[in-house]
Amino acid sequence: MAKHRKFIFVTGGVLSSIGKGIAAASIGNLLEARGLKISMVKMDPYLNVDAGTMSPFQHGEVFVLDDGGETDLDLGHYSRFVGSAQFTRKNSFTTGRVYDSVIRREREGGYLGKTVQVIPHITDEIKLRIREAAGESDITIIEIGGTVGDIESLPFLEAIRQLRHEEGATNVLFVHVTLVPYIGSAGELKTKPTQHSVKELREIGIQPDILLCRCDRPLSKEIKDKIGLFCNLTGDQVFSAIDIKTIYEVPLYFHDEGVDEKIIEKLGIWSGKPDLSKWRDMVNLIKNPEGTVNIGVVGKYMDWHESYKSLSESLIHGGVANRVQTMVHYIDSEKVESGDLTELKGMDGILVPGGFGERGVEGKIKAIEYARTNNVPFFGICLGLQLAVIEFARNVAGIKNASSAEFKPEGRENVIDIMEHQKKITDKGGTMRLGAYPCDVLEKQSGVKTHAYGAYGETKISERHRHRFEVSNEFLPKLTEHGLVVSGKYKDKATDTELVEMAELPKHPWFLGCQFHPEFLSKPLKPHPLFSAFIASSKKNKKS
Ligand code: GLN
Repeated sequence: MAKHRKFIFVTGGVLSSIGKGIAAASIGNLLEARGLKISMVKMDPYLNVDAGTMSPFQHGEVFVLDDGGETDLDLGHYSRFVGSAQFTRKNSFTTGRVYDSVIRREREGGYLGKTVQVIPHITDEIKLRIREAAGESDITIIEIGGTVGDIESLPFLEAIRQLRHEEGATNVLFVHVTLVPYIGSAGELKTKPTQHSVKELREIGIQPDILLCRCDRPLSKEIKDKIGLFCNLTGDQVFSAIDIKTIYEVPLYFHDEGVDEKIIEKLGIWSGKPDLSKWRDMVNLIKNPEGTVNIGVVGKYMDWHESYKSLSESLIHGGVANRVQTMVHYIDSEKVESGDLTELKGMDGILVPGGFGERGVEGKIKAIEYARTNNVPFFGICLGLQLAVIEFARNVAGIKNASSAEFKPEGRENVIDIMEHQKKITDKGGTMRLGAYPCDVLEKQSGVKTHAYGAYGETKISERHRHRFEVSNEFLPKLTEHGLVVSGKYKDKATDTELVEMAELPKHPWFLGCQFHPEFLSKPLKPHPLFSAFIASSKKNKKS
């Protein structure tokens, strides 16, 4: 049984991208370090039922959970900051999901002829889902997507207002993240946007208990008191949240500001001081690395940063494991395709990440060939593995037209193909392999230790997936004859098929591709073994 059952709601004001996700995750981090059991929830006010169908260019990365839930990238922050929290589909839901359940229930006659309305039916469904996600945790931190004042977020805000009423004021805390901009021409920090945003919250019955004010310089006591006066709280409930170089430092900064102390005081929780020693060591390492390693991530030019959030964080974690700073360079695959290898040549390691569609694929294949033939450490993830197999098939195994059914549905030499049983499914979403699958790791091949085993040090692992195509077993004998080693396999009992999970070249300094997405499991205090091993070999390969 949990010792407590408390809820912290995190809302955002003034504008989007204000760092609510990191703020919520940092609060979770500090409370976990105080020995409390934490659950985290993201509620998003859009109508998509989940993030699976949303373009990563618009909304950032789709973060995948063990149970196959396709969620918002904030779940990634939560997993990295709150080490022991477990996440399932229950921890992330949208307006679309809430309406979907309510409408289904209505169709099934679940409302016994009543008029189904936003209040109480939608708000009840929201509260139900919040309480369900709380499970056995002491504290559940719920972040509400969007900005206060948006029409879309109103049902969520109404639901949390009711929840405080039902659970009691000492069990529910409202944290509002807002902006206090510095206006150069006036030479001052401006509090008006914050005042307005809090006014908007209070109009709908929510009085924030804590204000986290994003600012580019610390707020003075006078400013805090002024904000407090206008927003109906005391100055010691107002905190500066200044821009910080590494996101992992945010919890430490909040702690120094006294945020967690104030939260537990307000919630009436007694707890010892948080143990932040390991976290502090990790942040010190990030801030004072012993060197740098340059990693080239080859992708389509529009695959911007946010769509590879977990990947770029995992590369940082791999750096931490090796006491170096990972410098990530995004390399446009179309440039490589046109024959420009200059950027690639300066890299200590090359990574081809996951992706969909044909655009830029030939450039990625060229980059893989460069890494393979020049002994540059190479890491291929999902599409990256598939392209590494295509490159190997074409240039080593003599399968000249090797390709993937994703790009050439009618191709005859598709070393990457869709599985027989999936061909019948017409609903595209239905053909994705999603979530955690077990994988057997091969220890040695002809007496040589595999890179995979070298990294994991164990033969049974589990990793998360999000893809439609697989390495075709038809071409596998030819590929392995020429030296490709399958170092990870998944045995599907239902269809009695084995699927390639990892493939590598054990004689290359480090050349490995995986069908899964290891970046979803990496944490700063627990860097993923494949990222650690890849950065270790890139460090060894360091130019100059
Ligand atoms: N497009 C490939 C597939 O669907 C790879 C997907 C990915 O990289 N996530 O199988």
